Amino acid sequence: MANLGDIAYQTVAGAISTSTHGTGTRLTGLAAQVVGMRIVKGDGSIVECSTEVHPEILDVARVSVGALGAITECTIQVVPAFALRAREEPMKLDSLLPQIHELAAANDHFEFFWIPHTKWALTKRNNRTTDALQPLPKVKGWIEKTFMENYAFGALCRVGKLRPALIPRLATALPSSGSREYVDKSFKIFSSPRLVKFYEMEHAMPAEAVVPALTDIRSMIERKGYLLNFPVEVRFTDADDVPLSTSYGRKSAYIAVHVFKGMEHEAFFRDVEDIMRSYDSRPHWGKIHHREAEELSRLYPRWNDFLQLRDEMDPNRVFSNEYTKKVFGS
Ligand SMILES: Cc1cc2nc3c(=O)[nH]c(=O)nc-3n(C[C@H](O)[C@H](O)[C@H](O)COP(=O)(O)OP(=O)(O)OC[C@H]3O[C@@H](n4cnc5c(N)ncnc54)[C@H](O)[C@@H]3O)c2cc1C
Repeated sequence: MANLGDIAYQTVAGAISTSTHGTGTRLTGLAAQVVGMRIVKGDGSIVECSTEVHPEILDVARVSVGALGAITECTIQVVPAFALRAREEPMKLDSLLPQIHELAAANDHFEFFWIPHTKWALTKRNNRTTDALQPLPKVKGWIEKTFMENYAFGALCRVGKLRPALIPRLATALPSSGSREYVDKSFKIFSSPRLVKFYEMEHAMPAEAVVPALTDIRSMIERKGYLLNFPVEVRFTDADDVPLSTSYGRKSAYIAVHVFKGMEHEAFFRDVEDIMRSYDSRPHWGKIHHREAEELSRLYPRWNDFLQLRDEMDPNRVFSNEYTKKVFGS
């Protein structure tokens, strides 16, 4: 696949239906790579749609949050297999922020994780290469990717949960130092094991809003004294034409905040959401948010096309649930 998110164990239908995305200013989220689907409608009948047959259904149904029907087949436009050169490097956030648009434009896939309570961000630059594969050695790779980013990180999170006052000091032990470079098959670089459980909120905003939005979040964290033991992740995608895609019609930046599972997250997420709102942001359909239909309808120019297709595909709301009622209305 041309691009992937952080993990690769979602279902295809679940990932496309929630507008799941990776990072790359010249690439879209997964839904825009879909060129055909077979969907079981509310009355049990089946509709096939593709760029040739019922393209008007395909157009809208690529991000549906499950509200149009059950996707039982999906055709994805793939690309020839490729390798990526990964360069991971910590940078001081204050020197990173003035150059993030340049870095995003200069790399096929650029993202970073800012570690709250520190000045550090871990940057990741992944670029296509025809060089020979140079994967991380097996043991070193397991230690750095699985052990450090999961078991050791999970242990730090558990200590922070028991003694929140220690979080700022523990944050300095997160992998904010040391650089590494390796070459591997694309899907091995895109996705990583994620064994530590967490709550997450992520918003897509016009790309140019990312620095002011992140700066506001950083000041809010300091002002309110939130103690956070998970990094804040920033990614980019190109605009696409999927009506309910979080990147519909605009080049987007994504800011994601996380809280270790079992820790209080509600107040922090609401404060982040208030900031995001002021930047015209759209919440990820598959992550925590508090936005409802009336507000969401103003964020998506083709909202009514989606509602109209829902009336045609599932007039009796066989596929509705508490969440779809909240985000689309009943
Ligand atoms: C550890 C972790 C990392 C993540 N990383 C990223 C990331 O990098 N980028 C990103 O954008 N997101 C990311 N996500 C979010 C994730 O991609 C979405 O939550 C995705 O929906 C999960 O897929 P699922 O198969 O569990 O779907 P579910 O949670 O089962 O379903 C999600 C939605 O899809 C609908 N759906 C599922 N199957 C069908 C079907 N057959 N037909 C119609 N509708 C269907 C459901 O009704 C529901 O509305 C991450 C999530 C986790 C847990």
